[in-house]
Amino acid sequence: MTERYEGLKASSGVAIGNLYLFIREEIKIDESKITKANTKAEFDKVKKAIDAYIDDLSKLMGASETQANIALAHTELLQDPYFTDTIEGKINNDLKNAELALDETVKEMVEIMSQIDDDYLRERASDYKDIGLQVMYKLKGIKAKDLANLAEGSIVIAEELTPSDTSNMNKEAVVGFATDLGGKTSHTSIIAQTLDIPALVGMADVSKKVKGGEKAIIDSNEGVLIVNPSQEELEKYEGIIKEEKARKERLKDLKDSKAVSKDGKHIEVAANIGNIEDLEIAIENGCDGVGLFRTEFLYMQSDNFPSEDYQFEIYKKATEMLKDKPLIIRTLDIGGDKGLDYFDFPKEENPFLGYRAIRLCLDKKDIFKDQLRALVRASAFGNIKIMVPFVINPSELKKVRELIEDIKKDLDKEGIAYNKDLDVGIMVETSAAVIMADKFIKYADFFSIGTNDLTQYTLAVDRGNDNIADLYSNYNPAVLRAIKHVIDVSHKAGKWTGMCGAFASDTEATKLLMGLGLDEFSGSSAKIAEIKDIIMNSSVEEEKDFAKKVLDCEEAEEVETLVKEHK
Ligand code: PEP
Ligand code: MG
Repeated sequence: MTERYEGLKASSGVAIGNLYLFIREEIKIDESKITKANTKAEFDKVKKAIDAYIDDLSKLMGASETQANIALAHTELLQDPYFTDTIEGKINNDLKNAELALDETVKEMVEIMSQIDDDYLRERASDYKDIGLQVMYKLKGIKAKDLANLAEGSIVIAEELTPSDTSNMNKEAVVGFATDLGGKTSHTSIIAQTLDIPALVGMADVSKKVKGGEKAIIDSNEGVLIVNPSQEELEKYEGIIKEEKARKERLKDLKDSKAVSKDGKHIEVAANIGNIEDLEIAIENGCDGVGLFRTEFLYMQSDNFPSEDYQFEIYKKATEMLKDKPLIIRTLDIGGDKGLDYFDFPKEENPFLGYRAIRLCLDKKDIFKDQLRALVRASAFGNIKIMVPFVINPSELKKVRELIEDIKKDLDKEGIAYNKDLDVGIMVETSAAVIMADKFIKYADFFSIGTNDLTQYTLAVDRGNDNIADLYSNYNPAVLRAIKHVIDVSHKAGKWTGMCGAFASDTEATKLLMGLGLDEFSGSSAKIAEIKDIIMNSSVEEEKDFAKKVLDCEEAEEVETLVKEHK
């Protein structure tokens, strides 16, 4: 009999497959007391188990940006002294054995995180559960169940999927996920989006309802998992999947084409990357270049500030891989939510508005100069452009330029080559940068609009706060007018404007952004071909008229309706 289960869309798409029920090992915790003489040995056992799991995580650091970020976050949680001190306290003071001390500590941390009034932080409770489980496996010498041997066409059903579950999953075999728990920012959602497969989360107790092995359809666009579908439903979905496949094939064929609009404007379609592996994927997907290399990951994955030479090798390799295509490298954008193990950030009320990005770099010039020297040296090997984040004053950009000029003089003396025409641009992420765009353009070779931040600062809406997520919209006319202004200012000065915020990857907005005059799109590699397709089938002049209509709207909802109608 057909059964239908509803859930929240975590990643869009439709697939037909067979259910694979992923149920974790039941763990029985040893509750016996220990004696005072054994406390050191018990705590050593926990430390060894933690180190063994950190070692596993370190192997994920070279993986995709998503996996590396998660591994990094887990490593930080494991290294949090509060976590280990709590375990140690339970062993030393309460004479609890290693397993019980770990189990109780993890449960307490999960409880604390679950009560926080912030969806993002609440999701981190599942990170604690995951690290607790993985350390417990190490402690008990249990080999964790994994998803390495999935049959082709599996739809994985689980209570929850953790980073360790998906790290060694057979990614070729899985066609969808559906989990009882999880929200839009959960690990399951992030991984499904990266893999570009449909996923549903928040499905109550689906993992207890299905047996595993059943034929099923996952349609995350409609938020439904159909188990044992009728023949009619299967045929309907086979049709949808066939159409989607044909569309993807067509897109594959044009991924390496130049995106020239019907009325002859060439628009660059580039990718955002965080490391060399992302770049390989971007090149495979036909990127015209890189519009944003987030260099903070190099810093976050190191034990100390990465040296000039270390950075030079990476930037050189990246630019050589891209041949003559542009590689826009953003200078260190650390602070806010992005910390470093080896650097003490000041405690601040509002770190997102605080000591971060270019503010920190101009304060810690020695650290900054290492990066700038690496960038200028690497510019000899390809088409590197430097991009400065989070600027609010033209003087910040001027200071960066002065530092670069000093470095060039030093390199001249040392007989080291570099690109004498190295472009330096800014990210437009603040209202100040928008309002003062005409001043900035005097010193910037290009603009790249960082809509993730620009939207939050224009609207005063925290980009990570689910309570006000409905207010965070790139389609808000205030944001769109800011974008238009920035593009117009750059064009008037004979320069160009790109976009590297997530709005650039929103294919519903591609035509609108063309109409606003955008010269370069940079975002998710998975979207490159689709964006090129839209550009090649649209005319900038026609889209200008549409953009004009949109700019006259009062509310984001109005814009969204117009955009949906204007396919
Ligand atoms: C942005 O703000 O749009 C951006 C691309 O930078 P990040 O998301 O790294 O803050
Ligand atoms: Mg930003």
